[in-house]
Amino acid sequence: MSEEKLFETLDPEDWDSMRSLAHKMVDDSIDYLKTVSNRPVWQQVPESVRETFQSSVPVEPQQPDEIYADFMTNIFPYPMGNTHPRFWSWYMGNGTVMGALAELLSATMNSNMGGGNHAAILIEEQVLNWIKQVVEFPSEASGLLVGGGSMANLVGLTIARNNQAGIDVRKKGVQSIDEKLTIYASREVHSSNQKAVELLGLGSDSLRKIKVNPDYTINLDELESTIKQDIDSGYKPICIIATSGTVNTGAIDDLNAIADLCSKYQLWFHVDGVIGAIAMLSDTVKPLLSGIERSDSIALDLHKWMHVPFEAGCVLVRDEKIHRDSFSLIPEYLTKATRGLAAGSNWFSEYGVELSRSFRALKIWMTMKEHGTKKLGRMISRNVDQARYLGTLIETCEQLELIAPIGLDIVCYRFNPGKLSLQALNQLNQEILFELQEQGIAAPSYSTLNEQYCIRVAIANHRSRYEDFDLLIRETLRIGKALYQARVINS
Ligand SMILES: *Cc1c(COP(=O)(O)O)cnc(C)c1O
Repeated sequence: MSEEKLFETLDPEDWDSMRSLAHKMVDDSIDYLKTVSNRPVWQQVPESVRETFQSSVPVEPQQPDEIYADFMTNIFPYPMGNTHPRFWSWYMGNGTVMGALAELLSATMNSNMGGGNHAAILIEEQVLNWIKQVVEFPSEASGLLVGGGSMANLVGLTIARNNQAGIDVRKKGVQSIDEKLTIYASREVHSSNQKAVELLGLGSDSLRKIKVNPDYTINLDELESTIKQDIDSGYKPICIIATSGTVNTGAIDDLNAIADLCSKYQLWFHVDGVIGAIAMLSDTVKPLLSGIERSDSIALDLHKWMHVPFEAGCVLVRDEKIHRDSFSLIPEYLTKATRGLAAGSNWFSEYGVELSRSFRALKIWMTMKEHGTKKLGRMISRNVDQARYLGTLIETCEQLELIAPIGLDIVCYRFNPGKLSLQALNQLNQEILFELQEQGIAAPSYSTLNEQYCIRVAIANHRSRYEDFDLLIRETLRIGKALYQARVINS
């Protein structure tokens, strides 16, 4: 045996066959996305397939083409479904083809985005600069790409706490804060904000959940009176979280009014724009987001309404120094050099929780360049228009009703044949949703608003066509009537 043969690495033994396999993977991926609308939106993973995932840790090597065959048989056919034109669950993007290919390239480079002097860092800086422009933040603002909106909210709220606590929280800890800190948001605030407040050691009680108006935006009178009451009772309000695009109904809080309150009471102004901030790209939505440019920090997602493959979240902070003060910690082994690989003034590890970070900037960079912001904005505008279209279909149908005003691109409705109790109606609609999903027709999700269970259609989807909503309505009625007539549900 030659010496080269004996020397082991994790590289392929046969580069040429790995190359053919790679070509096949790319071909299969392209075919898969091109034909996505021909397949059911979702299907249950069969028991026989689940069993294949019970085998024990692979001690000996397996052939790459066998591993790939296993993937093709047991994994690829059972996706979540959010690449499909009739996936409208929770709130997700579809992904982009260029974004998927970028993931291959980014993993190939395998750059670590904690810091250092290399091209990938420049791409993250450029992407952040682009996003600042989109939301009309000053160019000196800082930012960080993160896994998603949850992490972006955590980073923003950490900075809010540290900046407003009145003591050096990083050194002394929350137990040294004299006054009890309070944070304000509407009842419709996303749960990730409460998690962040809990993680920050403030306790979920310190997150004051303010009642909402009939359109599900925060009630400003109640917001201000709660702040005043808290001050009178010896609490120290530090931050208001405005939501631009609530997860239940897509409601956008009055950002200018909240900015005014924040300056009046000297509070940190954080915007949970995880759904809506990127809709600054859309001419129709942009006016509704007026005031976002006055915030101190914004959390947003590129993997939702801009369709970049998961994960792609972002936090922007108006004051770069305040941002860095919350996270910068430079031990000896991470000190920056004046030249070489460890040069560069901007190390992203100084702006967030994570040190090792992936090159997620590339898929955002490529997606934005491939389509341009105008077209990405048109995709958003069309979804808003489709939500109104669906709303009209519902309103003109006697057996369907809207359960909430349509905010942005989220429609909440239910089938109501009349004469059923609330409980029976809730059960019936739950059953309709299960059928829509299990028959592979469409994948809306659900919510419960004022105790009314509703089918919730969140249209962050660049592949949805208007006729997909015609089909949704037809199928809701077909299934609803059949269930009702079969008296599956007893009123
Ligand atoms: C989805 C969502 C989040 C959480 O974002 P992830 O990317 O899922 O972590 C936060 N806020 C709102 C309003 C959301 O819709």
